[in-house]
Amino acid sequence: MEKIECAVIGAGVVGLACARALALAGREVIVLERADLIGTETSSRNSEVIHAGIYYGKDTNKARLCVKGRDMMYAYCESHGIGHKRIGKLIVATEQSHIPLLENIRARAAANGVDNLTFVDADTVAEMEPNVVCHGALMSPSTGLVDSHSLMLSYQGDAESHGAMIAFKSPVESGEVTPDGIVLRIGGENPMELLCEQVINAAGLYAQPIAKTITGIPADTIPGSYYARGVYFTLSGGKPPFTRLIYPVPDPAGGLGVHVTIDLGGQVKFGPDVEWIDSVDYTVDPARGERFYDAIRTYWPGLPDGALQPGYAGVRPKTFPKGTHDTDFTIQGPEVHRVKGLVNLYGIESPGLTSSLAIAEDVENILVA
Ligand SMILES: Cc1cc2nc3c(=O)[nH]c(=O)nc-3n(C[C@H](O)[C@H](O)[C@H](O)COP(=O)(O)OP(=O)(O)OC[C@H]3O[C@@H](n4cnc5c(N)ncnc54)[C@H](O)[C@@H]3O)c2cc1C
Repeated sequence: MEKIECAVIGAGVVGLACARALALAGREVIVLERADLIGTETSSRNSEVIHAGIYYGKDTNKARLCVKGRDMMYAYCESHGIGHKRIGKLIVATEQSHIPLLENIRARAAANGVDNLTFVDADTVAEMEPNVVCHGALMSPSTGLVDSHSLMLSYQGDAESHGAMIAFKSPVESGEVTPDGIVLRIGGENPMELLCEQVINAAGLYAQPIAKTITGIPADTIPGSYYARGVYFTLSGGKPPFTRLIYPVPDPAGGLGVHVTIDLGGQVKFGPDVEWIDSVDYTVDPARGERFYDAIRTYWPGLPDGALQPGYAGVRPKTFPKGTHDTDFTIQGPEVHRVKGLVNLYGIESPGLTSSLAIAEDVENILVA
């Protein structure tokens, strides 16, 4: 049987960041990816926003890793020439009754160490963003955009130049914890078994199903798998009507509201919305666009009829069902599952892209400890 020091399951942005960190630390690393390219799932179906760390509950992994990961991300993009922009974000109160909610958001952000949010009155918003109508806003200067594909290629390049290898078309089908290490059974065109000293399960939406197929991982340590799809609609034609990201005050019923992101190429997109689904499905139902018009017109009354086109969908990997707990990032090492050398990453939804370098540092710390 082939042997390896570290196997990372999944070549999304988080798996690649982990492979990079471990390769830089001198480990022998293989990334096992079932697709024939990097980043074909959630890592290429997101908003490409570098989040500031505003909304997450105090002391959650999301808050800690977003704030840390954001700073690491900006530094990494600058030093490695990755396309990015500190575009800034306005959180707008579309009703007078939302003004006190802005103060709550500012307090929550401050508790996470994000202390640079400023209030902007309605007239100033009108000067900054002439197409936006609101009663006031919060400005977040450290929210930005990143070219996520260049970022992943760069992580891959760093990992490979430190000896890591990516095995494409290599689906992990099952495994077993043995006294000598973790055996992974890999299918595909060249099925094989691999004995690994360390395994990082970074399979995103499939992390829980993979953990269930590895005998020796206690079943009660594997969370449930739930899915919340988010679809985007893109704005056709013309110059972008905004120069910053625009988010309404979050809907108390859940979700961040139908917000505006602009990619580095200038394409304006609205979304993602939230729809709980039973299995991974990236279908975009054009009918969902109807609700987008009303939501967007609460802050951009000038949205023309017929301007929205169905875009794409991403699916959030959740560890709790709708209406129960918020999903936090679960970075699970041997202190929980008692399997030496194994780290499972569950529920790595947003802000997983922003947090990728910080998550990788946590994983490295667990495995080096
Ligand atoms: C709609 C949406 C918007 C988002 N927007 C943002 C944002 O603006 N900013 C931000 O910071 N975060 C955002 N996120 C979150 C971010 O996209 C994710 O946290 C991140 O991409 C997760 O990366 P990953 O590597 O864990 O998972 P993935 O990208 O899903 O990678 C997992 C990989 O594992 C592979 N795999 C699966 N099963 C197997 C198997 N059996 N064997 C081998 N390989 C396997 C898959 O093919 C895939 O390549 C968003 C998420 C969603 C859904």
